[in-house]
Amino acid sequence: MSTPALIPMIQQLIAAPSVSSISPQWDQSNEQVIQHLADWCRSAGFQVEVVPIPGQQNKFNLIASAGRGPGGLVLSGHTDTVPYDQQRWQSDPFRLVERDNRLYGLGTSDMKAFFALVLEAVRELDLAQLKHPLTLLATADEESNMCGAQSLLDTNRRLGRYAVIGEPTGLKPVRMHKGITMEIIRLQGRSGHSSNPALGVNALEGMYRVIGNILAWRDELQARHNNPLFEVQVPTLNLGHIHGGDNPNRICASCELQIDLRPLPGMPLEALRNELTQRLEQLLDNSELTLEIITPFPGIPPMETAANSQIVQIAEQLTGHSAGSVAFGTEGPYLQQLGMETLILGPGDIDQAHQPNEFIGLERIQPMINLLQGLIRRFCL
Ligand SMILES: [Zn+2]
Repeated sequence: MSTPALIPMIQQLIAAPSVSSISPQWDQSNEQVIQHLADWCRSAGFQVEVVPIPGQQNKFNLIASAGRGPGGLVLSGHTDTVPYDQQRWQSDPFRLVERDNRLYGLGTSDMKAFFALVLEAVRELDLAQLKHPLTLLATADEESNMCGAQSLLDTNRRLGRYAVIGEPTGLKPVRMHKGITMEIIRLQGRSGHSSNPALGVNALEGMYRVIGNILAWRDELQARHNNPLFEVQVPTLNLGHIHGGDNPNRICASCELQIDLRPLPGMPLEALRNELTQRLEQLLDNSELTLEIITPFPGIPPMETAANSQIVQIAEQLTGHSAGSVAFGTEGPYLQQLGMETLILGPGDIDQAHQPNEFIGLERIQPMINLLQGLIRRFCL
């Protein structure tokens, strides 16, 4: 038995809906995608495990591996897509359409087509020849809460020495990205008639001081951290949303501020959160305001793989590009925590990801297959 031809594989992956979202009305199972991959990987001679994600309904990771021994290469991607805006698509997002030398469909660039390219790359490969294991890893829910990658950490499994994640990088190797965290800062005071300030505790005035402190912190962070390999070379901190009070003649009893923080590699999320908490606790120490800081989801840690890592150097040789950075987050930090030196390298373009009329250029397909075969040759044969 052999796997289907390349384009039918991409077609079937695109036709299997697998939206993941923190909004329950959008969120779907990724089972159909996983099932296709499991069937094809078995046909290709891989040992296949479909692993349900603990605590999640109908979400699965797939681990398909061949060969034994130390070292080894993991080719990794996420099975889910973001939600879509049907009206703004020129064609059905779940039907693969070839037009102008492009394949259109939801998940073509980001990133279901990558799995089909991996299966195509190993079509002629004799898996019995592998000297180091080759593993295809397909995860759930990268686009929403990263529970797929997170659950791998809990199993603490050794999957390989090196990993390549096929996120859309336009065939160029990427070895670092910033992290992302969002924090909700709430101040609780006490309302009262505006004619006498002594009747209440004004949360809005407290937030004014908090904002001043946070902007000073941003200046400090940007003075302390700078990485010229990024387009935006410093960590960023955005004041994104604020809400407080209800009426001009009432003392504002509560105020909420939401911020987004994007640290450079070398700035762990936990340390930043602690620093923020400490600063604000100290600032409000002598006030009657109650401070609460909420982290609405775990965030994505920053990632950096050393420039002299073998996976980086070999990918640079194979692509002819030196490894750079991207502005989006990936599952890379999780794979790194599992002991893999991780590189991001995929055929799609981030400009097309998360957009109506997402596509992958046909001219990207053969070069990516060649790259994958080159990587397998260097790390597994
Ligand atoms: Zn992606």
